[in-house]
Amino acid sequence: MDANLIINVVYIVAAFLFIYGLKRMSSPVTARSGIVVAGVGMLFAVLVSFLYAVTASEAAKAHMSVNLSLAAVALILGVVVAYWTGKKVAMTAMPQMIAIYNGLGGGAAALIAASELFAPAVSGESEDVVRLVVTVIGAIIGAVSFSGSVIAWAKLDGRIKKTWRVSGQQFLNGAVMLVALGIGAYLVFGAHGHGAVGLTVAFFIITLVFGVLMTMPIGGADMPVVISLYNAFTGLAVGAEGFVLQNPALMIAGMVVGAAGTLLTLLMAKAMNRSVKNVIFSNFAVESSAAQGEIEGSLKPTDASDAAVQMRYAQKVIIAPGYGLAVAQAQHKLYEFVKLLQAHDVDVKFAIHPVAGRMPGHMNVLLAEAGVPYDIIHDMDDINEEFKEADVALVIGANDTVNPAARTQKSSPIYGMPVLKVDDAKQVYVIKRGEGKGYSGVVNELFYRDNTNMVYGDAQKVMVKMIQAIKDLGEG
Ligand code: NDP
Repeated sequence: MDANLIINVVYIVAAFLFIYGLKRMSSPVTARSGIVVAGVGMLFAVLVSFLYAVTASEAAKAHMSVNLSLAAVALILGVVVAYWTGKKVAMTAMPQMIAIYNGLGGGAAALIAASELFAPAVSGESEDVVRLVVTVIGAIIGAVSFSGSVIAWAKLDGRIKKTWRVSGQQFLNGAVMLVALGIGAYLVFGAHGHGAVGLTVAFFIITLVFGVLMTMPIGGADMPVVISLYNAFTGLAVGAEGFVLQNPALMIAGMVVGAAGTLLTLLMAKAMNRSVKNVIFSNFAVESSAAQGEIEGSLKPTDASDAAVQMRYAQKVIIAPGYGLAVAQAQHKLYEFVKLLQAHDVDVKFAIHPVAGRMPGHMNVLLAEAGVPYDIIHDMDDINEEFKEADVALVIGANDTVNPAARTQKSSPIYGMPVLKVDDAKQVYVIKRGEGKGYSGVVNELFYRDNTNMVYGDAQKVMVKMIQAIKDLGEG
């Protein structure tokens, strides 16, 4: 059979597997198998690409064996590094890993563009302008995604702690982008894609700098949206370079990632009640709590066992988990505690904020890992009005996502972000280790409210005490 036909058929099968895999990822029940399905699709696409060696002309075959050997070495290295990092990454460090791998995808797309732009002109052959325009667009998006994702990774990993801003930042960013676009236009229409080595190098440096400038001022609570945006960028860049290489698998995979990333970006921005433009061009992070005004009330510590006993005699308890649950790896103990409450006819539900934790779906993954049934896990919008009927709201390792100031206090830096209405419950218990702030650095006035008590300690240790307290009560 014709090798080209085999390649194209396998690419179509791979594209189907990407889309079917993505569809399965839309529910926690089928997500795991969705990842496997999409992974198999990628494996097919990668392996069948080696068949291009068969289709190459005699002249190209000499280079092909060197190129294929290099590709094989790169693949083996990539598989080893990805397998090793994927195995050892802590759940809490997952966003950093996503940021950096995502950036590498953008960088790979930019490198494909670079190899096209650096290639010497073939005499007598006229360049296709559309192809060149797409190459340059892919180069810009890919390079911005690469350098921006590296900064996002460094911020999430705590390697860059400050949000760096200069006056006239937006003007500066705009000017840098215009210069990059200007050089890009020259590379297409002036140099016709070839022979301008110095300008091509300058083009890539300026574009990379733009990615850094764009990401440095963004901080705190906006980072999830930014990572998702770069994810969409990477997809678009890969799709564009797939067009340049006339490779259908790259085009489809890139467009799927681009579309999914764009939708996720819009959904996350909506969850924070902000526009994507507002996320990128303004700043949500806070470096001091000065703007938050005075907080009235006091912190009222209580015992884990007292809190547990009150929940045991409650009718309805809603649990709001957050990042601290992941840090403490307390999900198994928490579910053990929930089962004890349920055995005493307490109606227990989980309320999930869309950006709780450090990655989209973080809490759903943790709770699924512990075996919590999906029918007691509810999205914020579905459960928020139920808090007023709850006897107890149990906040475990959450902070920003339960801060009532976001609803009530216009001067708060997180004003406008939808939050879980835990303060509507009759009694609120907050499990955290001390007076640590949340990701956005905002002090939480919930902790000072009259109906709130603090249960200090590592979430897992507190859960152990709570379980023991219920067991000590016996069946009565
Ligand atoms: P926060 O980050 O606001 O707060 C977590 C709290 O957990 C801290 O106040 C900390 O207090 C407590 N904590 C930490 N370790 C433990 C432990 N071992 N045991 C008990 N408590 C602990 O969490 P939320 O989930 O409420 O909010 C998520 C934030 O992260 C949002 O601002 C969101 O925008 C941002 N973000 C979200 C991403 C996503 O995609 N979901 C990605 C990146 C950022 P203490 O130190 O006192 O214990």
